[in-house]
Parts: sequence; structure tokens; C-alpha cells
Amino acid sequence: MILFKKASELHKWLEIQRKNGKTIGFVPTMGALHKGHLSLVDAAIKANDIALASIFVNPTQFNDPNDFVKYPVTIERDIESLEAAGCNILFLPSVAEIYPEGINSDQSQVYDLGQLERVFEGAYRPGHFQGVCRVVERLTRIVIPHTIFLGQKDYQQCMVIRKLFSLPGQLPVTIIVHPTLREPNGLAMSSRNMRLSAEEREKAAEIYKCFQFIRDHITNSDTSDLLQTATQRLRDNGFKPDYIAIADAQDLSPILTWDGKQPAVILAAAWLGEVRLIDNMPLSEPQA
Ligand code: AMP
Repeated sequence: MILFKKASELHKWLEIQRKNGKTIGFVPTMGALHKGHLSLVDAAIKANDIALASIFVNPTQFNDPNDFVKYPVTIERDIESLEAAGCNILFLPSVAEIYPEGINSDQSQVYDLGQLERVFEGAYRPGHFQGVCRVVERLTRIVIPHTIFLGQKDYQQCMVIRKLFSLPGQLPVTIIVHPTLREPNGLAMSSRNMRLSAEEREKAAEIYKCFQFIRDHITNSDTSDLLQTATQRLRDNGFKPDYIAIADAQDLSPILTWDGKQPAVILAAAWLGEVRLIDNMPLSEPQA
């Protein structure tokens, strides 16, 4: 695996590869890698000549400064995992490399994400998706990938990134979304799980159990009782839920009565101690 820290050097190297007809599959990450990330790297290896992962803890997408400061960093281990997975390139830029003009500049640039920025993560994390778009656009202009690989774990983020690449002036890239990898108890793998105690990691599986409960009990009628029961189950297990909801899989508008056919997704965000966990379960074929 070749490690690049300088955007200009990576860009130049990739330009030569593209001229030689090589395809580039890109997996953007914030590091503290787990098997979920590595499943994306594996998909990029299988589908492309060059699999490139980036590790960059993007300061502009953290609406909560405490979350940024406490974000796990395990670079040495990440490099070993990527090598072992067969990743070809790692891009490990500094903040100055991605934001040479500083992280507070170009705030006037606003991505029109419509409704996506007003619901669920958009509503609970003001500015978060603008920061995601800023970094994804910048990384993409450096890498110019053919394909970007994303995890369905961040369902709304996948929708935001699809929306980003539909906006005028963006590069043409193919987006591939891969299913969420879970721990044996159902907990979605996440870098933030490192901040949970062993006991909390067991409790945290309750989110997935609530999804299964909703999926198994949902009928063609009002969903509010079911959602209330699930919310209470989370509270009983020590969570502070931000939301647990059923939404249209394509535009995330809330579904109060499900007809059993409309593509839908169950979405949840909940605090366990100081850690905010998000997860989702599509109720029909994945759409993200
Ligand atoms: P992050 O490092 O959390 O920004 O995630 C980088 C990429 O990995 C994103 O596309 C995530 O959606 C994806 N990802 C995170 N957790 C998982 C998981 N458990 N299974 C599959 N993909 C994941």
C-alpha cells in the first residue's frame, strides 16, 4: 500500500493511473477502522484496478466540539488493517491539506440539500451535512474516483452524498452503498463504539432489537403505538433517544401509516452515556 499525505502528489499519481486506463474505487473514512469499513475496501478492490481509502477526521462536520475531540484515532492499527485487506492507496491528509484556506472560510458556500437537511440527522446536527458535503467534494476533486463506496449504516448521509453529486458542477461519480456490518449481538459496527464500555456495548444492541420488534409487529395501520413502545424500550435500557421513526426510503418524509408496500426505513439516534449512536433498518429493499 502506498501512503500519500499531500493532495497534490496523490492527484498527480492518480492522473497517470487514469491515463493508463485504471479505474479508481474510493472509500472515504474518518479512521478507527472496523470490519464495516473494511467491507467497503474489499468491495472497492473487487470492482476497481485501484482501491483507495482516505482517513480524515473532518472538523467541519462536527456540530458537537466534544464529539470531535473524543473521536477515536487509531492510525497505526488502521494502516495495518488496510495493508492486510489489500488496499492499494491510503490518503492521510492533514487539516491544512484539505482546508488550505482554513476551516472557517468559504462558509458562504451552501449546498442545497432540501428536505434532507431539515429531518432526523439534519435537524439534530445543524451544519453537519454541509460539512460532509464540503469534505466529500474536496476529497473527490483530489481523487477523481470512478466509484465511491459508502455504508448504509449512515443512511441519510448516503442520500446527502447522492444529492451532492446531482448538484450542478459536481464530478460524475458512481455511488455504491453496501449493507451495515453488525456485531454478533446486532449492534451496528461504528468507530464510536470504542467509546462504550463492554456493558454498554451489550446494551447498545437494544437499538437493533427495537428495529426487529418494529419490523415483526408492523401492520397496515397507525405506527405511533409501535414507535412509542420502542422509544420506551430504549429509555428502559438507559438510552436517551433523539428519535426512532419510520420514514419514506426515498425522501425520508415520516410515515405514520405504512401500507406494507411503500419503500420505508426505520431510523434511530440515541445517546448511551456520552456516545450518540445512529442506526437504521430498511423495511423493504435498500434504497439509500
Ligand atoms: P466513518 O469513518 O464513520 O465516516 O465511515 C466511513 C464509511 O464507512 C461510511 O460510508 C460509513 O457509512 C461506512 N460504515 C460505517 N460503519 C459501517 C458499518 N457498520 N457497516 C458498513 N459500512 C459502515
